Amino acid sequence: MIHEPPDALLPIAPPWDRLRKEEREERDLQPYAVRSALSRGRRVPEEPDELRTAFERDRDRLIHSNAFRRLQYKTQVFVYHEGDAYRSRLTHTLEALQVARSIASALGLNETLVEAITLAHDLGHPPFGHRGEDALHRLMKDHGGFRHNLQSLRVVDWLERRSASSRGLNLSFEVRDALLKRPVEREGTEFDPASGPMLEAQVMDLADSTAYNHHDVDDGLRARILLVEDLEKLALWRRASAHVAQHEPAATGSMRVRRTVGALIRLCIRDLVQHSAQRLARLAPRSPDEARRLPEPAIANSPEMAAEILELQRFLFRTFYRHHRLNQMAARATRILSVLFESYLADPTAMPPTYEEWAHEIGVPRAVCDYVAGMTDRYAEQEYARFFLPGA
Ligand code: MG
Repeated sequence: MIHEPPDALLPIAPPWDRLRKEEREERDLQPYAVRSALSRGRRVPEEPDELRTAFERDRDRLIHSNAFRRLQYKTQVFVYHEGDAYRSRLTHTLEALQVARSIASALGLNETLVEAITLAHDLGHPPFGHRGEDALHRLMKDHGGFRHNLQSLRVVDWLERRSASSRGLNLSFEVRDALLKRPVEREGTEFDPASGPMLEAQVMDLADSTAYNHHDVDDGLRARILLVEDLEKLALWRRASAHVAQHEPAATGSMRVRRTVGALIRLCIRDLVQHSAQRLARLAPRSPDEARRLPEPAIANSPEMAAEILELQRFLFRTFYRHHRLNQMAARATRILSVLFESYLADPTAMPPTYEEWAHEIGVPRAVCDYVAGMTDRYAEQEYARFFLPGA
């Protein structure tokens, strides 16, 4: 038996409980960063946590949500059975998260808030990627349409269940606010349409596109839909390639290509951090609210880099997203979602009881849309087979 001195039995406060973390934010973050202690709170008020800040709690709820786990079987660009090494919407979210944290921490913004926003940003994505989103939008055209970011807010506000007494994850106002990007989406809501996005939301937005530009090039090369000789026509690729040639002359052949893909994302992040830091130093917003009222977004790539990124995105649109192999997947996705949508619309009792009840509350089309949007690619395919091959 171990004998401990009596004072070892006294509870010891951990070095970083919530109050100390809030003090640390106050001390270390820039004046324009959102402070968790000043959050506008939750829809259903809750006692603060002893150990975690409000945004740490949001992050934890998001990671433990069903919608988050389902991202692993949702398409980013390739459907899951095309190959194991391609990005899923889950790995995309994690890559965007890495980029977002790098930018937020370098700029003295609230990294935990950025983390929570990024974890939530694609939760509303339906199966089969953007093609699935287009298909659902068409199916819902007489009932208010469908957009994945609005759906992300529905997921965290209504569709996830963590408590018997209320719906949703009951996240902080700031995380929810960041999901509605365009003024038109914010009209008639509790979120001010006149207010620009928080700096933390701007970071998430650019981290998202930085991550997918990079990983779509990588996946496109892997699928041999993109060719290095075509990429060499792009200024951004040549910039990255020159960087590797200069700093890593030993990398040749396929390693050279791989390092160039890596340099692509590194150079974009570095430019984004440096250019945003300059703008913030010049504009010097004294509070998060002032930062939202600046006439233009403070988080941005330099004009030269932004032009090169735009060239890359246009190239990807022409040669990759519209490639016939992806178009074939898209045609199948559209057929599957249409059949599912029409089938549940005709017979809402074919949905699980919770969605049947939900249909009574909010109307059949929107409840069907919520149900179908929540499906993974895999589950949508199984359900489709069930409708067409009874007994399968
Ligand atoms: Mg995304």
